[in-house]
Amino acid sequence: MANQRKQDTCSFCGRKASDVKMLIAGLDGKICEECAKQAYEIAEKNLRAQMFSRAFTSIDSVPKPHEIKAYLDQYVIGQDDAKRYLAVSVYNHYKRLCHPKDDDGVEIEKSNIIMVGSTGTGKTLLARTIARLLDVPFTIVDATVFTEAGYVGEDVESILSRLLQVAEFNVESAQRGIVFIDEIDKIARKSDNPSITRDVSGEGVQQGLLKLLEGSVVNVPPKGGRKHPDQEYIKVDTRNILFICGGAFDGIEKKIAQRLNTHVVGYNSVQNMQKIDSKDLMKYVVPQDLKSFGLIPEIIGRLPVLTYLNPLDRTALRKILTEPKNSIVKQQKKLFAIDGIDLQFEPEALEYIVDKAVECKLGARGLRSIMESVMIDAQFDAPSGDDKTLVITADYARAQIGKTQQLAS
Ligand code: ADP
Repeated sequence: MANQRKQDTCSFCGRKASDVKMLIAGLDGKICEECAKQAYEIAEKNLRAQMFSRAFTSIDSVPKPHEIKAYLDQYVIGQDDAKRYLAVSVYNHYKRLCHPKDDDGVEIEKSNIIMVGSTGTGKTLLARTIARLLDVPFTIVDATVFTEAGYVGEDVESILSRLLQVAEFNVESAQRGIVFIDEIDKIARKSDNPSITRDVSGEGVQQGLLKLLEGSVVNVPPKGGRKHPDQEYIKVDTRNILFICGGAFDGIEKKIAQRLNTHVVGYNSVQNMQKIDSKDLMKYVVPQDLKSFGLIPEIIGRLPVLTYLNPLDRTALRKILTEPKNSIVKQQKKLFAIDGIDLQFEPEALEYIVDKAVECKLGARGLRSIMESVMIDAQFDAPSGDDKTLVITADYARAQIGKTQQLAS
């Protein structure tokens, strides 16, 4: 009788079978749907916390630069130089964490990274992919939201609030995270001459960023935004946080060209000029060009690893459509497969999408929105139709784009 009662109640909350929606039987007890849900939530939270606190205590557990690059290759097309720089700096970063200071007194310095490349070339994607490989808390912040204390905007410390939030307020794990600061070029000094109006979103923010980048203990407002005196702060040490900065630096090619021109005057100049690939000046970028663009030398000094991303050409855009592990085409196919529909693209249709992306000059960012415009009607109609296959032809894609262009004009 006692055994019978035990079997008909939830072994966790004690509620009877008649009071719950379902009881799931185990070997020696039962669990109701409410307790199962709670158990799932607790397990998930703990596993996440464990995952984030995974400390790379030995360099053997850190992926080697070759492995990091191979992983990046699965998601990011091209950009080999940037991948190599990133792989090496991330590896060195973790070497530094595993060997804080040996007896020899040599301390490896932090290797924050700055990536220069036009919009939609994969800067954010690279940073995000690396963070996924390493299982560390990762956040993306936009440098344009920050202003100097006392003005409308956010304090730079709120960068760390976001990292803390991602790490579920586990300070230890946040302290080993990666922060991607996007649009770093937008906080460049506005002009070389000091002006009567203060440059509160430019140089002011650069000064604020300095202490985060170099590594210090910072008071972080847990909810972000502006700091105010009555608030409680969380202390975060930024020494082991890896900062990756990215920016389009529109117009930096001109500064690079100027520098290259002035340097190649004189002996050997003709020979040197011939070696310079004038179509792709970005690869010659050096810290001095960032300074000419308006970053202060102290900031440049704290971002010692400088790399660039190539503008994406037709071939790269074509590959981006189909090759990465979660390519745009694979995602579309999956969306339709869920409705039991086999989606196919004729190669000419993909070529057409690439042509349009080249026209709109948004890098790979354009591919996604063009694909959405092509597919919107099919996504609306197909789930209610009878067809089990759908082939997207170039004519269909052209007609769909034509429609949206008519609407826009
Ligand atoms: P940004 O350089 O402006 O940070 P993103 O990394 O945000 O550009 O790229 C925008 C989107 O374009 C990404 O989500 C990704 O789908 C795609 N993309 C950009 N560059 C590449 C690349 N080299 N390989 C694969 N996909 C890319």
